[in-house]
Amino acid sequence: MTDLTVNISRCRLCADRFAATHTAHEPRPVVWFKPSARLLIAGQAPGMRVHKSGKPFDDPSGDRLRDWLGLSPSEFYDKSRVAVVPMAFCFPGYDAKGSDLPPPRICGTTWHDQVMQTLDKVELTVLVGGYAHKYHMGVKTGVTDTVRAWESHAPRLFPLPHPSWRNTGWLKKNPWFEENLLPKLRAQVQRVIHG
Ligand code: SF4
Repeated sequence: MTDLTVNISRCRLCADRFAATHTAHEPRPVVWFKPSARLLIAGQAPGMRVHKSGKPFDDPSGDRLRDWLGLSPSEFYDKSRVAVVPMAFCFPGYDAKGSDLPPPRICGTTWHDQVMQTLDKVELTVLVGGYAHKYHMGVKTGVTDTVRAWESHAPRLFPLPHPSWRNTGWLKKNPWFEENLLPKLRAQVQRVIHG
């Protein structure tokens, strides 16, 4: 591990915030990157299942994301090629409706610039969900408009919706995503991973 990954792994900045949530959990940063990575998955924050396993996208959302990318689990979890860097490294807890709370802003302001500086081999960035769109692209548009404009950013950047089951209806309403965007994304992933 590098000094940076060790420091993030030991981070406790949100301990009080997490202790005050319904789950009263402790910080468990899920740190998953190496400087050699050429594909960056920029996501939102770990869910409860990932909080327990310590492995990013180790859940049904991850299965769907790997399908979108055309990657096997062994390819996806090869840190030397694929970095997974969410807007917050820890599970933020649940809101009153049982949805995940937003990623704590302090995580991005504390760690993100340092992480991005180490990832200087990245050739393709996949932005998963609205928080990542706003942070990395600086957009103010909603997820649908941002993803619909994917051709303006490809081939180095692909904005995606979150692969959660909650977005299954979105996928049905927006068939262009699977018909047009995903084939281009999979081809670019293969080029970057194996090129
Ligand atoms: S979410 Fe980020 S800032 Fe908060 S404790 Fe985890 S690593 Fe630290």
